Amino acid sequence: MLVIDPNLCIDCGLCETACPANAISHDLNSKLKWIEHNAKYAQIWPAINQMIEPLPNAEKNAKLENKEEHFDATAFDEATENSVADEK
Ligand code: SF4
Repeated sequence: MLVIDPNLCIDCGLCETACPANAISHDLNSKLKWIEHNAKYAQIWPAINQMIEPLPNAEKNAKLENKEEHFDATAFDEATENSVADEK
């Protein structure tokens, strides 16, 4: 998963059509929780500034219906804490 910093996004909409997993939406009314999630992790996770290979689980996750139901913020927080600890 990656996040987009909502403070840097200019709402051009290009990513919404380019995302192969249909995971990006600019429907603000139903996505406020995701904006908060993006804002939080955009400050913590490293910036991606070059194209990389898809992650091992990308194809499987792209096919998931109702992705929101599979999202576990606790797992992201634990993984982030472990990653930060590894960097020290
Ligand atoms: S491509 Fe997406 S994230 Fe980037 S500025 Fe446009 S709408 Fe925002």
